[in-house]
Amino acid sequence: RARKRFGQNFLKDSGIIDRILRSIHAVSTDHLLEIGPGQGALTEGLLASGALLDVIELDQDLIPLLKLRFGLNTLFHLHQGDALKFDIASLTKDEGEKLRVVGNLPYNISTPLIFHLLSHHHVIHDMHFMLQKEVVERMAADPGSSDWGRLTIMVQYFCQVEHLFNVPPECFTPAPKVDSAIVRLTPYQTLPYPAKSHQLLELVVREAFNQRRKTLRNTLKRLLSVDDIEKANVDSGLRPEQLTLAEFVRLADQLYINQHIEG
Ligand code: SAM
Repeated sequence: RARKRFGQNFLKDSGIIDRILRSIHAVSTDHLLEIGPGQGALTEGLLASGALLDVIELDQDLIPLLKLRFGLNTLFHLHQGDALKFDIASLTKDEGEKLRVVGNLPYNISTPLIFHLLSHHHVIHDMHFMLQKEVVERMAADPGSSDWGRLTIMVQYFCQVEHLFNVPPECFTPAPKVDSAIVRLTPYQTLPYPAKSHQLLELVVREAFNQRRKTLRNTLKRLLSVDDIEKANVDSGLRPEQLTLAEFVRLADQLYINQHIEG
């Protein structure tokens, strides 16, 4: 029985499962990490690639079933626990080794989980996730659209985003109430708009979008003066959703400069 509290909607449509596996295209030299394997709908195909596979599953009741299905395969490594608290970097053994992360994610924790993974971007080669379609649209949004927000900016700061395809509720059991979609996130080797401090970028973006209807001169009042905003070559009369990623990075860098001048 699927448990709501763990965000369990198991994939049952073999056509969609195949399509997801083809998009991932795992090969035997890969090191995969699956978050929330559930009953193993994707796990089986992932293991068939011959790649090393770590899985993290929170629900204790699913552990015996997963052990029974895959426990004899030496490529399979099962971790019972919360992916939100898991030290992803501890899975990589060799210097420079990177993980390919996969998951039909529990939708109730998808945003914090993605922020957690972004903090490990240096050990991740790519990520393929099933998410609420609306969340994928937010990740892939362009500046100026109503979907452009904190999630968009932080994801696009670290990763290239590709909305691959949509998945209707009938492909799951039980069927979720919302449409879903598959997204591919590929962390940049070299960030296109590197900020002097990721933390300050997060701070500026969070503060700006706390009141998305207001202009920057109002929302950023506690962090940056109108003068500072103009020094960063940004129009302080704009609303946060009108700013590009590059402009947010310039604001964060101005904040960094202020903090370092003030000592
Ligand atoms: N991958 C399976 C599939 O496609 O059929 C299951 C997907 S289901 C949407 C999400 C899975 O994530 C469930 O098995 C659930 O128990 C597990 N899960 C929920 N919260 C988790 C967490 N914090 N850490 C790891 N797994 C979690």
